[in-house]
Amino acid sequence: MIKGNSQNFEAFWVKYDNYKIFEYNNEFYIKPSDKSEDNVYNLFDVSSELLVDFFLIGKEVAENWDHRDIHCELKSKEKKYQDLVLEFVKKYGLLGEVTYMPINDNFISDNKVLLPGMNGKTESSLNEYLKIFFEYDKKIDFNKELSKDDIIYLFGKNGDGTATYLNRLNEYALTFSERYSEKISRILVYAKLMYDTFADMEKYFWEENENQKEIYAHFLKDFKPCNLAFEINYSEKAILRWNFTSLKQAIETMLGLNVTNDRKDVKICKRCYKPFIAKNLNSDYCSTTCRNVANVYKSRARSKEK
Ligand SMILES: [Zn+2]
Repeated sequence: MIKGNSQNFEAFWVKYDNYKIFEYNNEFYIKPSDKSEDNVYNLFDVSSELLVDFFLIGKEVAENWDHRDIHCELKSKEKKYQDLVLEFVKKYGLLGEVTYMPINDNFISDNKVLLPGMNGKTESSLNEYLKIFFEYDKKIDFNKELSKDDIIYLFGKNGDGTATYLNRLNEYALTFSERYSEKISRILVYAKLMYDTFADMEKYFWEENENQKEIYAHFLKDFKPCNLAFEINYSEKAILRWNFTSLKQAIETMLGLNVTNDRKDVKICKRCYKPFIAKNLNSDYCSTTCRNVANVYKSRARSKEK
């Protein structure tokens, strides 16, 4: 980490010690393994590594992008991408999409979910919404209204206790449950979106042509993390605790904090476009190899000009 870069931030998230990938209805999902244990950790202890690891998945997807596979369903069936996702999730936990998407925080007691739509809000019943994340579990019938017992079942043995421990709403018991699953293809699509966004942010600053700069700025306007909440804890020093709705929201916030910092921790290599943790302010390349190659090109360009 670059010196002088520390802010007193904390944000807690949950990861299990093991996860499994499984197929359901011809789609691949990831969830905690049976008998795995959950752990709580501070996202800001690992924020730079987390960003780099997630962007690396996105870069892999972006470089092999196929416009016919826009939702990454084909990629999600390939072992290469499944392994990338598994490795990331084992280190940092699932993305927490179930609590990321709703506009209404208390969607369990509301018994409906308000979602941001193309033209304003759209509404979904609770059972239809939770089906996205728990459908594989045949103990629950998602075609009818869910009972209190159904919800408690979905919390699993860990979800409720962890949500209480972290002082979060009941809804987080779903995110932290060992029964909670996410679609591999959706994680891949999101990783690509985040990598592309970060690459555009970097290119905006590299670009010298004003018209081109404007194009990047235009795309970057679409990047708007919402629903942020935080509190300040006073102990020996004041610590800002971010109450993220999800790992997704954490990633978006960390990306925002990174790009607006004069001492950017995470950068994209100017030669190979790989994300990396910068050792000092002036590092523009991920490795000595990339720096040397770039310097050779630069001096060739210079001698041509002469
Ligand atoms: Zn490089």
